[in-house]
Amino acid sequence: DVALYAAKAEGKGRWLRYRQEHEVRAAERMRLRAALETALPHGEFFLEFQPIVALADGRTVGFEALLRWNHPTRGRLMPGEFIEIAEESQAIVAIGNWALSAAVTAAAAWPHGDARCTPYVSVNVSARQFRAGGFTEHVRQVLAESGLPACRLMLEITETLLLGDDEQVWQDLAELRQTGVRVAIDDFGTGYSALNYLRHIPLDVLKLDRVFTSSLTTSQRQADLVDGIITLAQKMRLDTVAEGVELPGEHDLLRRLGCGYGQGYLFARPMSAEAAGRWATTHAGRSPSPR
Ligand code: C2E
Ligand code: MG
Ligand code: MG
Ligand code: MG
Repeated sequence: DVALYAAKAEGKGRWLRYRQEHEVRAAERMRLRAALETALPHGEFFLEFQPIVALADGRTVGFEALLRWNHPTRGRLMPGEFIEIAEESQAIVAIGNWALSAAVTAAAAWPHGDARCTPYVSVNVSARQFRAGGFTEHVRQVLAESGLPACRLMLEITETLLLGDDEQVWQDLAELRQTGVRVAIDDFGTGYSALNYLRHIPLDVLKLDRVFTSSLTTSQRQADLVDGIITLAQKMRLDTVAEGVELPGEHDLLRRLGCGYGQGYLFARPMSAEAAGRWATTHAGRSPSPR
């Protein structure tokens, strides 16, 4: 009986602690949601850029633009701490459109030698930005104002966007691709995917999610799965970018499996726009000893 009582008390204590934590988290989210509303006018967002590298020879072909929030009291926040909250409201539309415009402006200032379509900038686009209307016009306007060739912009969309048979999204993507903008499917294989979108959605690049990359060298089964995805991409004439490449062994195996490109800490962490410009100059050429 004493033991039972102790267990009950312990259980109650645990439940109370859980409830307290839950309330703290809910209050925290509410504060973040309110702060998000003013973050854009207060200029609190900035972007970092992570190199996307050709696995065969190590040259950098582009950069993914990644959003950061300089919160007035909490300091620098990563997307994992606020994107979901922004996605819950309409806030992501203005924030995402700001990110697009800032990324394109930064890319227009990067040195590119004789190359027309590199280095490109790859920008994450939320489904809500598409659904808000006027997205293709916004893209065209941002490109025109910056002077960036359309082929130096890539848009990263997620499988969720392609879920329903949304004719409007399909048309927007087709229209954007006609202007030369490229489209990547981000975090491939982790969403609620219905592979049938591959039959008719116009795409250029498949980004293999980090969970596949990081499990790649752990077993034959994982390697076979990635092998199959890369083969699928090749058959669909899509380029493949592997996310989260951290180990030389992952790099080697991905290259042998026919994955064209990679992104990850093995090559570089996300960096400022200025650092990316310098990086582009020093890593544009073929590296002396690719293999
Ligand atoms: P994502 O699009 O899949 O971006 C890749 C994430 O993986 C980035 O996290 C990047 O910093 C991280 N990463 C890159 N290489 C490695 C590696 O080798 N190891 C590990 N562990 N991580 C690596 P980040 O910057 O925290 O962004 C998280 C997510 O937030 C992004 O995932 C994207 O879905 C979203 N996001 C970022 N910027 C934007 C934006 O401007 N708009 C929208 N809608 N979403 C964004
Ligand atoms: Mg992305
Ligand atoms: Mg991704
Ligand atoms: Mg990912």
